[in-house]
Amino acid sequence: MKKILLLLFLSAQFSFGSTIFWSKTGHRVIGEVAQEELSGRARRAITKLLDGQSMASISNFADEIKADRRYREFSAWHYVNIPINKSYSDIEPSKYGDLVTGIQKCIAMVENEKNTKEDRVFYLKMLVHLVGDLHQPMHVGRVEDKGGNDIQLQWFGKGSNLHRVWDSNMINDYGLSYTELTASLPVLNKKEKKALQSGTVLEWVSESQEIANKLYTSVGIGEKLAYGYSYTWWSTVESQLQKGGLRLAKVLNELFK
Ligand SMILES: [Zn+2]
Repeated sequence: MKKILLLLFLSAQFSFGSTIFWSKTGHRVIGEVAQEELSGRARRAITKLLDGQSMASISNFADEIKADRRYREFSAWHYVNIPINKSYSDIEPSKYGDLVTGIQKCIAMVENEKNTKEDRVFYLKMLVHLVGDLHQPMHVGRVEDKGGNDIQLQWFGKGSNLHRVWDSNMINDYGLSYTELTASLPVLNKKEKKALQSGTVLEWVSESQEIANKLYTSVGIGEKLAYGYSYTWWSTVESQLQKGGLRLAKVLNELFK
């Protein structure tokens, strides 16, 4: 119990103090969308590994452990910085790891049945989260402004920044729980889902980067954002959450074939 309280305390402290992740709700939506798209085989394997926990419920694990020093080495996995007009394959990958190498490592660790269950579970939880982060465009932003963290803005009269608007301000202000938000996403047929699931991790990275480039021009420094901004961009938020979930399912279905 003590341990749980401590964890709750640490994660609460962290979520108030930091601005570097999709809102908890966003990650849960992605987990929930993916859960619904799993093949029978993947579902059984994942249920077994997670001891019956849902993917939504473990989707924020990777952010929660940031409060624990022992996991410091994983903090660079949540994002990738790519200069404008360059693509991931043009850059020298960070020696600390990034979203792309992080996802690759997770896949390799979960795939290998010789690894301990503990390790496979750890990297599965990381994977669920990182595929989510990959779809928050500002996690594929520029290094000079820390993925928009240094672009100060006002959100309904309170200090915020471009990264935080996309991580949490818009989603939290929308006011839906993760199940309500999942249920409110556009209903897609098989063909439409398949189309969104197509592509590779690197292609998804460039897609997020393209959106990030638009977002950089969507605001001026210090701008006062309110309803109008959400009105313009909410469909992009929804579509990124939905794509994140569908593609996470694709990755997992391939992993547990
Ligand atoms: Zn994250």
